[in-house]
Amino acid sequence: MICPVLKLAQQLIQQPSVSPNDHGCQTILINRLKKIGFSIEVMPFDDTANLWAYHGEQGETLVFAGHTDVVPAGATQNWRYPPFTPTLNNGLLYGRGAADMKGSLAAMIVAAERFIIDFPNHAGRLAFLITSDEEAKATNGTVKVVDKLMMRNEQIDYCIVGEPTSQVKLGDIIKNGRRGSLTAKLTVQGIQGHIAYPHLANNAIHSSLPFLNELVNKKWDDGNAFFPPTSMQISNIHAGTGSNNIIPGELVIQFNFRFSTELTEQQIRQQVETILKKYQLNYKIEWSLSGHPFLTEKGKLINIVSQVIAQYCGYQPQLSTDGGTSDGRFIAKMGAQIVELGPINETIHKVDECVSVVDLQQLSLIYQQIMQKILLPA
Ligand SMILES: [Zn+2]
Repeated sequence: MICPVLKLAQQLIQQPSVSPNDHGCQTILINRLKKIGFSIEVMPFDDTANLWAYHGEQGETLVFAGHTDVVPAGATQNWRYPPFTPTLNNGLLYGRGAADMKGSLAAMIVAAERFIIDFPNHAGRLAFLITSDEEAKATNGTVKVVDKLMMRNEQIDYCIVGEPTSQVKLGDIIKNGRRGSLTAKLTVQGIQGHIAYPHLANNAIHSSLPFLNELVNKKWDDGNAFFPPTSMQISNIHAGTGSNNIIPGELVIQFNFRFSTELTEQQIRQQVETILKKYQLNYKIEWSLSGHPFLTEKGKLINIVSQVIAQYCGYQPQLSTDGGTSDGRFIAKMGAQIVELGPINETIHKVDECVSVVDLQQLSLIYQQIMQKILLPA
């Protein structure tokens, strides 16, 4: 008999659901959830398919969150197996999305099926929040579903996000928060001129250097128990016309902050503008925030997830907040306790993405046990 988790993961990988195209993945999930009595609400926004589904009528809500979209396969000729033909070899399931995160989706759905069969009259609500727009823009996905849910006063108490958080062994790392991400595009204005007549020009590179030096060397914070110190990286810098006899009249710089809960977006913006003013630069700056930092403090959900991992894996997970942003940043607005737990992330977004089949089966049992611990009164 073929394992139901593996079978469903294969069905999902077969759909080339490159972000934000769901390519029928959510229909597969909906059909499975309908069979076990879930109420289904589809919430499409523009090019994005979203799904909100729940079982149970009242009480605390435990949500499993995830995405059906994947990043592009890239150069398919470099893959050992075609990226959208799920292939098993040596206990590993290969295919785009195997680890990020169609494997987790399969593990969650099968866990829910087993849980509902065992406990059809569980307390509280078990819910799914699934989007097809996590990997790319993330503008019509979880963020919009959360807005809609909040408008009608829905409550989410606990949320497990199936992102691949494990590093070496299944469950060795779980995420209880993520850093914020803030990008600045800065244009420093000078006066263009002939290299031989510098007194008639104002070199935008020269005038920006003291600012850049201070920006790069500034210590923003020390981090805290859960977050590493805030980091700033310059991602792009451009000035000059390519000619060797023109003083550049403009410098354009893009830089990004990954920030801890020690700082707010406003504080970072103010501090940067203070340095700009100190050096009396003529500038224009545009800011874009991709996510505030969020954190789930130690409490019921972290305790339960840690206990269940210890029970199935034999070791305690480590808590972490590193890595990029995740859709947890949107769900955090609802005041939910959030933990991210999924398979090993070593191959995500790479050629030959793969996941251990045994890990997926184990992950499904862990998810099921978390459902039991939260939705069954002791
Ligand atoms: Zn993902």
